[in-house]
Amino acid sequence: MDIKKTKIETKCVQEGYESKNGEPRVAPIVQSTTYKYDKTQDLADIFDLKAQGFMYTRLGNPTLSVLEDKIAAMEGGVGALTTASGQSATLFSVINICKAGQNFIAMNNIYGGSHTLFSGILKDFGIDVRYATPEQSQEEILNLADENTRLIFGETIGNPTLDILDFEKFHSIAKKLDIPFVVDNTFATPFLCTPIEYGADIVVHSTTKYIDGHATSMGGLIVDSGNFNWENGKYPELAQPDPNYHGVVYTQSFGSSAFIVKARAGLLRDIGATMAPFNAFLTNLGCETLHLRMERHCENALAVAKHLAPHEKISWIRYPFLETDKSYELAKKYLKGGSGVVTFGVKGGLEGARTFIDNMQLATLVTHVGDLRTHALHPASTTHRQLSDEQQSESGILPDMVRFSVGIEHKDDIIADLDSALEKVQL
Ligand SMILES: *Cc1c(COP(=O)(O)O)cnc(C)c1O
Repeated sequence: MDIKKTKIETKCVQEGYESKNGEPRVAPIVQSTTYKYDKTQDLADIFDLKAQGFMYTRLGNPTLSVLEDKIAAMEGGVGALTTASGQSATLFSVINICKAGQNFIAMNNIYGGSHTLFSGILKDFGIDVRYATPEQSQEEILNLADENTRLIFGETIGNPTLDILDFEKFHSIAKKLDIPFVVDNTFATPFLCTPIEYGADIVVHSTTKYIDGHATSMGGLIVDSGNFNWENGKYPELAQPDPNYHGVVYTQSFGSSAFIVKARAGLLRDIGATMAPFNAFLTNLGCETLHLRMERHCENALAVAKHLAPHEKISWIRYPFLETDKSYELAKKYLKGGSGVVTFGVKGGLEGARTFIDNMQLATLVTHVGDLRTHALHPASTTHRQLSDEQQSESGILPDMVRFSVGIEHKDDIIADLDSALEKVQL
């Protein structure tokens, strides 16, 4: 058989690590910041990026490599980079190719943390974000761009609105502008969707969510498709000599891996948002059962959504695989399943949503999503609290909204818990 042409389930279990004769079968945790070399020239060659090898864990570590190689293979990319969290992965995906005085387009229905990162920190650094809505036409979105626009950013499944990204439309916009299409694939995971297949150039993840899946480890990851041509005149940081790395030209030295090599050699080296080896070990352990968990998350979430849709205490519901959902067609086109999150409005507005959450028993109130235990959150008073009322409603965050992350317990128990908590809500 061809070991490189395995299906994604097999990649979840096997990719990223091979043990040679007598070596541990499980990828070990290399809890070392440093690596020993015999000769100064050996290390100099690594510093020069002429030879491959580990020099200092801030820039790379064998345990991190296992996870990087596994997710790169699952996403169909040429390389990946782990980061300390999803936030740093998102940050790196933008600042690797976008500088002060330049701008980028982002969907307005993205994760709250990405929203504040873009509108706050990046704006202070002189990078301007221009928000597009899923409803806007190609033409309207193209009009947001100018000669300084450097990328376009969206989420496969919006957190928490659950809008499905129209890959065809955004890929076409990116092509017309000759800029890369960056996709946050956290909610879908590579098991449900591989964005590179639909034209994404760069994929980012918060591995903290489903990829870990057990709520143990913060982490982020960037995957490079290797497909974008950085030599189109807009990306001198990749296609011209880098003065911070004694004149290396990433596109010349690293070809299709230019983006991800620069992210490591430049951003990770200088900013240092490195994933801990122990977190990579736990995340990889979680990832080994990602395919099984995602199937159950999808099955349970669909059952929950179907149960809630006609419920008298529910004012509205979103789940991409409900036939009545506005993203249903896109979901069927791009996803193998709707993932584990269901969002809905509880009658009685803010009060109703709070009463519901406060009366859950099996499901718990936690700031998280994608854990194998069922849990829920009230976005308006937590993850999206920092947005103004206007920004909240523009991003689809309503006061009555509950973000319900369906776990992998038995669906009957989850539904029983929902029903008893909803009983407490007064109409
Ligand atoms: C949680 C999340 C992030 C941020 O990831 P952290 O690991 O919490 O830093 C980014 N994007 C999406 C879609 C998320 O759900």
